[in-house]
Amino acid sequence: MEAFWEEVIKDIQKKVPENTFDLWFKSLKFKEIKNGHIYLEVPNKFFRDWIDENYHDIIMESLVLSGMNGHSVRLTISQEQMEEAVPEEPVFVEERRPAASPETATSVWRQRLKSEYLLDEFVKGPSNEFAKAACEKVVENPARYYNPLFIYGGVGLGKTHLLNAIGNGILDNYPNLKVYYVTSEEFVNELVRSIRYEKMHEFQKKYRGMDVLLVDDIQFIAGKKQTQEEFFHTFNALYENQKQIVLTSDKITKEIAGLEERLRSRFEWGLIADIDYPDIEHMVAILKTKAEKLHNIEISDEVAFFMASIVNDKPNIRELEGMLTRLIAESSLGGSEITLGLARNALKNFIRDKDHPESIENIQKTVAKYFKLKVSDLKSQKRLKAVAEPRQIAMYLCKKISKASYPEIGKKFGGKDHSTVIHAVKKIERKINEDKQFKHNIFSIENQIKMLG
Ligand code: ADP
Ligand code: MG
Repeated sequence: MEAFWEEVIKDIQKKVPENTFDLWFKSLKFKEIKNGHIYLEVPNKFFRDWIDENYHDIIMESLVLSGMNGHSVRLTISQEQMEEAVPEEPVFVEERRPAASPETATSVWRQRLKSEYLLDEFVKGPSNEFAKAACEKVVENPARYYNPLFIYGGVGLGKTHLLNAIGNGILDNYPNLKVYYVTSEEFVNELVRSIRYEKMHEFQKKYRGMDVLLVDDIQFIAGKKQTQEEFFHTFNALYENQKQIVLTSDKITKEIAGLEERLRSRFEWGLIADIDYPDIEHMVAILKTKAEKLHNIEISDEVAFFMASIVNDKPNIRELEGMLTRLIAESSLGGSEITLGLARNALKNFIRDKDHPESIENIQKTVAKYFKLKVSDLKSQKRLKAVAEPRQIAMYLCKKISKASYPEIGKKFGGKDHSTVIHAVKKIERKINEDKQFKHNIFSIENQIKMLG
């Protein structure tokens, strides 16, 4: 390779973000110098157009620095690729849009996506089915139904998964679209570099030229003035041209402190979809699916149920995956089958308050979770049946499982009188004798409490 070219490439590497360099410049090869032209080879037409449109100035600048002024640059397509190239469609020529073969163009965008994050792999439940359905709509018809789509939810609940799945799905359906996945941190870094190296024009052109922009964890742009300014313009340009925008955030728009009002209102223009914490049955389904898909192992309902019941009040799917990996490692190391006993042993570290599974607090937590209430509801004076009955059940279970006395239990339930506790226990005992289904439910809660031990 000519020495000057090495210098040029080094210089470019300093000027552009790392991922840009990897994506566009790694495959750029020096061919020859002829009649005042420097010939560079690119893998395909898509690269040629893209580099020509976006990085021509950077290349020229670096050439000048390396003493090669007076030369112009010619990009040629590598021979093997030429033979495979598909005929161009005239519309692309006019618009100067990349006319690469779909596979080549698509693979560029795919590189930024996690291929295993697919909609099909996303287990649906009451907490996320709305968000999943919204993503399915966007994948069917980008920029048609919901624009922007704003997905929010707590940590580890599947936002990044869904965002990648949208990207993968759109590329399956529309291989010619330019789909760009970026975290808001990457966006900020790229912007800062563009400003520093006076490449704002390229930056703007790149982002405003996308068909689908997927920004993960948008909450990080809050408080950053220039980033918000730039994102505002990017958003407008894409929106006006009917390009799909999808954003994720760990908070709903109005709770993102430091987010400019004009952005907040735009984020709410389309559809807002939240992902909530999964309930026990949903976690069981996710665990069983993951065990099968990722590890090719079947775990029993009993074990999955146990695992789902030991995560805290704000379950995190990533944590469940961690438990699963741990359990499977334990089983394959010891060559033993995955039983409840093994799970209990292997997952000891995940179990909260393991010394006091029978404490009043744990019983309250488990009962509250079972009925999807807050522990504070159990301690309140609310008389609604939906609250009063779970409270009585919790009192009954405290009497049965913990060693506490009636007055002690009353005290832990927001200072209730011991006679209230006695009344509750009697009532529940009666109902257990009369109602089989009820008896079964109580038994199931009791089991969950004992499993903590
Ligand atoms: P977030 O971005 O919301 O923090 P992620 O998308 O990174 O969460 O999800 C964490 C992990 O949990 C990923 O491995 C993801 O595949 C998995 N996950 C989350 N929700 C589901 C679901 N409903 N079905 C299958 N896997 C899920
Ligand atoms: Mg994420």
